[in-house]
Amino acid sequence: MAGLALALLLVCAGLFAWASSLFSEPSAREVPSVAGELGATRVLAVFAHPDDELRAAGLLEAAKSRDHAFTALITATRGERGTQVPVVARQRDLALVRTAEVLKSGYALRLDEQEVWGFPDSGLSGVDFEWLASRVAEAMDRYKPDLVVTFWPGSGESGHPDHMRIGLAAEAAARHLNETPAADGYRGPKWIAYVVAPRRGIRAIGGAAGAFVAANEPEPTLSMRAKLSTRMGGWKIHASQEYSIPTTYHLPARLYYLLWGDEFYKVTELKERR
Ligand SMILES: [Zn+2]
Repeated sequence: MAGLALALLLVCAGLFAWASSLFSEPSAREVPSVAGELGATRVLAVFAHPDDELRAAGLLEAAKSRDHAFTALITATRGERGTQVPVVARQRDLALVRTAEVLKSGYALRLDEQEVWGFPDSGLSGVDFEWLASRVAEAMDRYKPDLVVTFWPGSGESGHPDHMRIGLAAEAAARHLNETPAADGYRGPKWIAYVVAPRRGIRAIGGAAGAFVAANEPEPTLSMRAKLSTRMGGWKIHASQEYSIPTTYHLPARLYYLLWGDEFYKVTELKERR
């Protein structure tokens, strides 16, 4: 009997080790803090929806608590088209509810500054791109980040078109400032850290969207641990989205994060400025 239990335990441990390995990326060097590793002192995250910031919660939290960096977050939409899981409000009130949720989430992450814009949820691709990128460039000039965090434009980390669009807009804004400095001489961020997914893992659990993401992502360069308590606490704050991980990936959120324990980033240094 004891032998059988031991054998079962070994099989479970082996299965868990194999599943965890899917959520690793050999090219990514694990660091305690992406901002700290780069020497960044001002971090601006640029995302599409309330709750997207949870995908970089570890980076933002470590930048503040470990490295004492300035941290700010732009959320371009109010998430009014989101599916509520569970339903906590009238759908017509969802923009207000999710705006409040992301502001609470930012407070929990101890962000210094936060803006929630009113671009249409699930409609960023229909917004004039120059306009969107110029709004992001203005925000960069307001906060003067040396590190910008956003989605990889080719995959959006989840395949969501809004994620891809905001990543592209943040990249365009950074490059524009790099080439054409703002009136006060600010020349944009020195680095962009693109949020990416572990490719084998997202392919295994993400269905068609996961396959798209895996096929369109670069090799990540850095990874860092995010605290389970921060991530789980973040979904509690985003009450209208609390069950989005089990709904999307058919895994309990705790197991999902036990497997996908790291955040992965493709970090690009902007060209040396003259
Ligand atoms: Zn999103």
